[in-house]
Amino acid sequence: MTYDTDVIVVGAGLAGLVAATEIADSGKRVILLDQEGEQNLGGQAFWSFGGLFLVNSPEQRRLRVRDSFELALQDWYGAAGFDRDEDHWPKRWAEAYVSFAAGEKRSWLRAMGHRIFPVVGWAERGGYDALGHGNSVPRFHVSWGTGPGVVEPFERRAREAAARGLLTFKFRHRVDALNLTNGAVDGVSGAILGPSSEPRGVSSSRTVVGDFALRAQAVIVASGGIGGNHELVRQNWPKRLGAPPKHMVAGVPAHVDGRMIGITEQAGARLINRDRMWHYVEGLHNWNPIWPGHGIRILPGPSSMWFDATGKRLPSPLYPGYDTLGQLTHIMATGYDYSWFVLTQSIIKKEFALSGSEQNPDLTSKSWRMTAQRATNKGAPEPVEAFKARGADFIVRSNLPDLVEAMNVLAGSKLLKLSEIERQIEARDREIDNPYGKDAQVMGIHNARRYIGDRLIRTAKPHKLLDPAHGPLIAVKLNILTRKTLGGLETDLDGRVFGVNREIMPGLYAAGEAAGFGGGGMHGYRSLEGTFLGGCLFSGRNAGRAAAKAVR
Ligand SMILES: Cc1cc2nc3c(=O)[nH]c(=O)nc-3n(C[C@H](O)[C@H](O)[C@H](O)COP(=O)(O)OP(=O)(O)OC[C@H]3O[C@@H](n4cnc5c(N)ncnc54)[C@H](O)[C@@H]3O)c2cc1C
Repeated sequence: MTYDTDVIVVGAGLAGLVAATEIADSGKRVILLDQEGEQNLGGQAFWSFGGLFLVNSPEQRRLRVRDSFELALQDWYGAAGFDRDEDHWPKRWAEAYVSFAAGEKRSWLRAMGHRIFPVVGWAERGGYDALGHGNSVPRFHVSWGTGPGVVEPFERRAREAAARGLLTFKFRHRVDALNLTNGAVDGVSGAILGPSSEPRGVSSSRTVVGDFALRAQAVIVASGGIGGNHELVRQNWPKRLGAPPKHMVAGVPAHVDGRMIGITEQAGARLINRDRMWHYVEGLHNWNPIWPGHGIRILPGPSSMWFDATGKRLPSPLYPGYDTLGQLTHIMATGYDYSWFVLTQSIIKKEFALSGSEQNPDLTSKSWRMTAQRATNKGAPEPVEAFKARGADFIVRSNLPDLVEAMNVLAGSKLLKLSEIERQIEARDREIDNPYGKDAQVMGIHNARRYIGDRLIRTAKPHKLLDPAHGPLIAVKLNILTRKTLGGLETDLDGRVFGVNREIMPGLYAAGEAAGFGGGGMHGYRSLEGTFLGGCLFSGRNAGRAAAKAVR
């Protein structure tokens, strides 16, 4: 039997790049295949904000954040809510991953040239109790250079390995089947797609110009999740979240099509937790779209008031940035698949960040001068101001009656009553006069500002929304945005895939989003954020190292 290479990696996103570079660095040969062209190298990670979950980092310590492995694991379990037999490997992955995030992760990346923006963000704040969902402390470390800053070291290593003859790229190679001999996976076959000159992220053609079959001792599936395929998202939508949304925007490019997960399942692999997914509720229609239905997520600070489609304020603790899944469940239970932020210019200026490398040119281009302007500029960062001016979901008015009228026009309904919205905002505004009080969101704002990072660049000084000095008033219509697949192919800690018979399928490995970021779903039901890129790094590394060791 002759092999074309030692290991084949399907998918040149972050997980595939990490796995392939680990294999090449161990002296083994690897072919890295992707259905997209070379311009898409790095997959979703290139578009990402580059936020990384780290525990007890020097950046946290400098900001006087006291964190520990024990606290992070407590938070992880509170978020994950593991409650199924299938959670055996996901839970083991979660423990191993939190240990990686508290240990080697930062120094491993740093040795490759990766750097971190010094102000640590506080995502998914929870708001329940100590054992409940949420980060007890800020842990969202933004990569200097955002997503491209995460991809860069691995792309460099991959190109060096290609120059040494150990790594071969095969772009526009779409895998349609896994091949097995005597029960062991030993190759892939599929279609060669016609060349694509589309810019990165733009959907490419699926015109077939040939076919291929390749043999290897092991295959690693690193093909990403299902978020770009809304039909598949709706099919897997869990009943506990209500009916699937009629309207969604796409937070991922079209290549996140979920097809390879189905192909791997057909070959006998066990797919678990397919009903667990991580979609956002603060999605915007991109006024300048790159991929079909392109949506952008607002990473919100804690001060915007949040109303459902009928004008009722979301209950405690469903405040911006607290509990994504809780918000999704609540919003879907209203019978409408959208909701509203109401805020002021002072809030948008300090609290709106947009997730995506292209939406943060200051951090992405590693410009300290531009980044410093976030703190000193009169307006919000330029991409946020562009959305405010041109985005279909934004309304800016100088007074509340005009704002509510325009909100009803945008929604095409008369669901919002000025008197009701006004009553709720005025009540909230009365709670601003004291640095303490009973409104849990206002208390949360005071709490946030006791963290220096939030006070500096993330949480606006408490003020009355109806104070014209902080105006104009802004309303944002928020859509459901598809993003991450939390379930996936069940694997052990080496990334070896289990078959439906619960036994390891020889020769088959999985990593990244296709493997639920490890084990078939290391997040359980919810994420603490910044854990997806990290999950790709860790699972890609484990699978790559284990596959390299296993091949002769
Ligand atoms: C805008 C945005 C912001 C984000 N921000 C963050 C963040 O701040 N922090 C964080 O932790 N995470 C973030 N994420 C999530 C994170 O980027 C992804 O979960 C992660 O990059 C997924 O990597 P992957 O390698 O598993 O899959 P992908 O990047 O999807 O790569 C999979 C590759 O496999 C290829 N492929 C699929 N099927 C086949 C086939 N049959 N044959 C050949 N090739 C195939 C695809 O073309 C693709 O190139 C963000 C994502 C987006 C889109």
